[in-house]
Amino acid sequence: MDTEVSFPDGDAIIIASNVLFRVHKRVLAHHCPVLAANLDTSAESMGGLPVVRVTDTPHDIREFLRVAYGSSPPTRAPLAPFSVLAAWLRVGIKYKMQVLVDHAYVNLQSLFPATLSEWDERDGPESSHDFKDENAIEALNLFQQTGQFGMLQVAIYRCCQLDPDVVRNGTTRADGTPERLSRKNVEVIARAKERLKEYGARMIEESRERFKRSEYCSYWQFRSYYKFCSCQDVIKDLRDTKAHGREAWREGDPLDSRFLQYIDRSEDSRDYELRQDFACYMGACSNCMDEVRSEVGEMRARVWNELPAIVGVADVIDDWVCDN
Ligand SMILES: [Zn+2]
Repeated sequence: MDTEVSFPDGDAIIIASNVLFRVHKRVLAHHCPVLAANLDTSAESMGGLPVVRVTDTPHDIREFLRVAYGSSPPTRAPLAPFSVLAAWLRVGIKYKMQVLVDHAYVNLQSLFPATLSEWDERDGPESSHDFKDENAIEALNLFQQTGQFGMLQVAIYRCCQLDPDVVRNGTTRADGTPERLSRKNVEVIARAKERLKEYGARMIEESRERFKRSEYCSYWQFRSYYKFCSCQDVIKDLRDTKAHGREAWREGDPLDSRFLQYIDRSEDSRDYELRQDFACYMGACSNCMDEVRSEVGEMRARVWNELPAIVGVADVIDDWVCDN
């Protein structure tokens, strides 16, 4: 007997694995007519109560019942952990509970977004939904099983960032249920990872051509006086550096945004009007850095826009929203 959502006056029994939930038919009829109908036609009974056996995990059934009995209303979904959102989506699709599906979907989208700007802000959703990197495996299986293809490419991208041993051996859900990737998915991820590495390497290569001093460089005027322009040195460093997030590009994470933060740190945002002031500083002017930022933005947007093709699922994605 479940200790949380089981009631002594319940008039029906759901059995998931070895856990028994004693519930009320009227509550099921309201929230889940499919399960209620299964009870009506059930030939099995226990102590005079109709019984329905389900193949879902006790965790998933419990999370659905918590919503049905109001102890976990979906309106609080922004605080629900990933494990609960996944449970809602699994049982919601299976038993045709659209409200549950919608709440799960909206919140999962903050973890598997459709735009690059949302992707760059995913740290917040990750902590509020208690999302761990390896949960990407459960997510990929979940989206394929439930047909939520709009989030598939980001789930594969996330899987590409996992340790290859984790990809091969799988992980476990919050309730201990094993989550393994099919051999086909392991191959999809290996191929996607190689392509992402190629894209990252190409971005580093293209930086050499793309990063240039702006023709509107604010500090160029100081050059004749000081025999150099600090923007040139900064841009050369940005072209040549192998660190500050660029190693992540090379290793298959071309959407890593740490390099943008490094560009921000390389900028001198003050406007110099006196040569003496300028002599003390080695940063680059904001005009030059804006152009470098824009080049990096274009290269990252290309990866994002081509993500369905890069990770090999373009055939099932038909409404990918392109950035820029
Ligand atoms: Zn400049």
